[in-house]
Amino acid sequence: MTLRGRLTAAFLAVVLGPVLLGAFFVAGTMSQVGHQRAVERLELAANAARTSVGALCRQLHGAADTIAVTADPAHRAAAVRQLVGRGVAAAIAITDPAGRPVLTSPEQPVPQWLDCAATGPATGGAQALGVRVELRDGTGTVTGSVIALQPVDPGFVARLSGVTGAAVTLLTDTAGPPTAAQTTEADDGRDEVLATAAGLRGDGIAEAGNGRYVRRVGPDAEQPLPLVLSVPGDAAQGRSAVLIGAVLLAALLAVLAARALARSTTRPLDDLAYAVELVAQGDLTARVPVSSGDEIGRLAATFNRMTRETQSYVQALTGSRDQLRGHLAVLGDMLASTHDLPGILRVILRSALAATGAQAGLVLLVDPGSGTLVGQCGEGLQGRWPHPADPTEAQASLRDPRAIRVPIGVGVIGRVAATGEPRRGRVGPDRPLSRQEPACETYVAVPFTAPGVATGFVAPAPRSASGALAPKPTVLGVLVLYDRLGSDEFADEDLHTLGTFAGHAAVAVENVRVHEEVQRLSLTDPLTGLWNYRYLKESLHREVERASRFGRMLSVLVLDLDRFKEVNDTYGHAAGDVVLAAFAGRVRGEIREVDLAFRQGGEEFVVLLPETDAPGAAVVAERLGAAIRDTPIPVQPHSVGGVTPAGPALIAVTVSIGIAVFPDHAGTGQEVLDAADDALYAAKSAGRDTYRMAVRAPRADGPVPPTAPAGPGTGRPEPVAPRAVEETAATSSGASSVPRPPRSGRGG
Ligand code: GH3
Ligand code: MG
Ligand code: MG
Repeated sequence: MTLRGRLTAAFLAVVLGPVLLGAFFVAGTMSQVGHQRAVERLELAANAARTSVGALCRQLHGAADTIAVTADPAHRAAAVRQLVGRGVAAAIAITDPAGRPVLTSPEQPVPQWLDCAATGPATGGAQALGVRVELRDGTGTVTGSVIALQPVDPGFVARLSGVTGAAVTLLTDTAGPPTAAQTTEADDGRDEVLATAAGLRGDGIAEAGNGRYVRRVGPDAEQPLPLVLSVPGDAAQGRSAVLIGAVLLAALLAVLAARALARSTTRPLDDLAYAVELVAQGDLTARVPVSSGDEIGRLAATFNRMTRETQSYVQALTGSRDQLRGHLAVLGDMLASTHDLPGILRVILRSALAATGAQAGLVLLVDPGSGTLVGQCGEGLQGRWPHPADPTEAQASLRDPRAIRVPIGVGVIGRVAATGEPRRGRVGPDRPLSRQEPACETYVAVPFTAPGVATGFVAPAPRSASGALAPKPTVLGVLVLYDRLGSDEFADEDLHTLGTFAGHAAVAVENVRVHEEVQRLSLTDPLTGLWNYRYLKESLHREVERASRFGRMLSVLVLDLDRFKEVNDTYGHAAGDVVLAAFAGRVRGEIREVDLAFRQGGEEFVVLLPETDAPGAAVVAERLGAAIRDTPIPVQPHSVGGVTPAGPALIAVTVSIGIAVFPDHAGTGQEVLDAADDALYAAKSAGRDTYRMAVRAPRADGPVPPTAPAGPGTGRPEPVAPRAVEETAATSSGASSVPRPPRSGRGG
């Protein structure tokens, strides 16, 4: 059943109920009033009947008395005729003492009559009502009697009916079932009236089946006739019809009103249902007309507001989706075009924040050397220090995300890095934060692993000597977000989303690492692992700049292996390569962290010693020479001269070194290198396996300054000047002539 149907039924019940109740009440009252009126009318009719019959009896009595007081018999007869003639009595009879009629007028036999004075039950069908008065003579002796009569015929009953205003029935007898002697009752109702009258006693009133009210009058002291009076039931039928008509009309009106009311109530609901259906189909522009201020009107207004807000939410969502797309586009561009790792990580972090609605976030990268995660960039971390669990510790330095250090395996972030498995949840006793982590309520943290590494279950990471868990070899870093807006916990979808961003971060980190590696490879020599000639030029320039800015010294050593051609010739080129690599290793082992070693080309090397003066450089040269000279280099030979030796060959090599110092010997990087080359040439000339210090080039405005002391590998080398070197070397060492090394064509 529809709502409209139910409302119609309810309205009908509400409206028709009282109408029907009222109708019943009115009908009841009407029948009672009708009954009352019938009772009153019958009462009046009974009184009128008594009065009428009584008056008739008195009239007959008067007539009989008049005859009785007339003494003269002749007059008496005249009086009788006169009284009858005037209608005072219908008939008058004078009888003798025995009761035999002596005079009757009209001259007819005296009918059976009922005495007005009779009080007992009437029996037999009396045809007249009469009064008897005794006749007496002067002595008082009864001489006869006078009887005055009035016939009880249909005319009499009709007159009585006229006087009483009721239908009158004269009963034949008072004993047994009433039977009508005379009646004015209509034929069709007579039997019912008489049947009803049979059950009545005294002044009782009853309603007959045909709706007539019935009562009996007499015989009694006032009225000797057995009469039944009846009156109609006060036109109740007509009024009932009116009543029923009114009720039906009211019902009709009620139905119409109920339908109208139900329709006016349900139409806005229909509109609403239609609009809801439109919204369900995705049309958020659907609106409902608000036509009233009632509950339905309010519902419609609320619906409109709800739809409007949903529409704006959807628009906002679409907007943020577009924004996210923008972020991703920027991210894509950055990933493709730059190697600015901090910049890329910042964009990734911001995109992840935008995508998940988190309030704060942090990106950390694994530092394999220290076994810690190092903060790279952060967002929204203000006010999350110091950690509430450790309020005493001053953590002001941690306000900079790059100062954050989280040991692998410690706290939420550390464990994500250790296990390589993402985590999300709420901070609690079972999931404590480490002191180094920002304070938060909820978090989601995903590791990012080297691209191309299959994810899935991996065995727990091994513990390092210090007890901290070593990171999974593939975990590059961790992307962690804190406290989603609205304080909901992060969901699995967020893990998924963040996984995507972590993938981007991994690609970025890997790209940058690859880029750095390529960079490094392009600057290093593959055979020895030392920096190459290209990087030498850069470094020389940079170090000279720095030394000149801070007023420091920079020493440059140029090294050339002695008679290396012979090594190649004797042991083969491959053995020569091994010697070169071993030589590079020894050089590296003899210099400080800040010093830089380069392979300039062939078997020529350069070492830059920042913040080192000439004596310091001489010490290093001495040490390097000794390190090469003292320990021959073992080489696993293949066949030498068709014979394969049993053990590794030990190749003894020496090195000659030229030293020049900025700013003592020259003012630019290239000049210092040239000066060192010249000094090397001098060392070669001096017999090799030694070093020589450059001398300051003679300047136009002054004499050549003194040079630092030098000596051969076995003694102290002599100071040399570039131009004077050749002679000095030639005379002092007696070695074979040394051609000057070319200053171009170096490399590889
Ligand atoms: P000295 O320098 O003492 O005057 O004599 P030297 O024999 O070393 O003469 P020089 O410097 O002119 O010769 C360089 C030799 O080094 C030439 C070449 O056979 C050898 N050589 C250069 N580069 C390489 C290299 O990459 N591997 C090997 N095995 N040999 C190299
Ligand atoms: Mg050489
Ligand atoms: Mg050489």
